[in-house]
Amino acid sequence: MELALGLVLLLYGLSDILFRFLGLGAYARGSRREPKVALTFDDGPSETTEALLALLKAHGVKATFFLTGERAKKRPDLVEKIREAGHQIEDHGQIHQAWKLLLPWVEWRHMAENPARYYRPPHGLHTPFTRPFARILGKRVALWDLESKDWLDLPPEALAERLLYYLRPGKRGPPPRRPGEDPGASKAGPPQDAGAGLPAGHPRRALPYTPRASSSPDQGPSGVQRAV
Ligand SMILES: [Zn+2]
Repeated sequence: MELALGLVLLLYGLSDILFRFLGLGAYARGSRREPKVALTFDDGPSETTEALLALLKAHGVKATFFLTGERAKKRPDLVEKIREAGHQIEDHGQIHQAWKLLLPWVEWRHMAENPARYYRPPHGLHTPFTRPFARILGKRVALWDLESKDWLDLPPEALAERLLYYLRPGKRGPPPRRPGEDPGASKAGPPQDAGAGLPAGHPRRALPYTPRASSSPDQGPSGVQRAV
């Protein structure tokens, strides 16, 4: 019994490492060879959707919205506005409580509820069943390359600066130090100094950064993600 439980836990852990953290077989990393970015926005529709649509329209930009079924059901009017504006709508599953998806029958219903070409698991969570279910349902798993980390309590300028840095060709490591910057600062922690370029007096904080890998060409909605 204990051995069986151990094997199950091992299988779940391995699946998540291979398919979420390494992004094997998913759209996960955009090409740095071409100046293209795919913008994706998750967890909607929400109270910010209309403002977001207005901003995208003002800049003439199309994006992909990974919607959750339970939110789409509450605001079909917003779903229609996203569609009318010509954006791509894809599946973020029915619910957003990733821990519930550890039960295969819950995950199946969650993934089968909303037809789409692409499926983005909540928080990227992968069980041993996620990829087989996606295959049966005819959905391709789409993860992401860079996260905006907009859930952090930081000004938009700092979040944007970090994203723009990593979007440059060949940028994988930490940003270069600026003249006069504390040499010790770049050694500690994650490779981003979100405080660079902030107004004087703003606290300097480091942002965690988790790159994801993919062998897929950039045909799908990989790229910058708003939230997971
Ligand atoms: Zn999400």
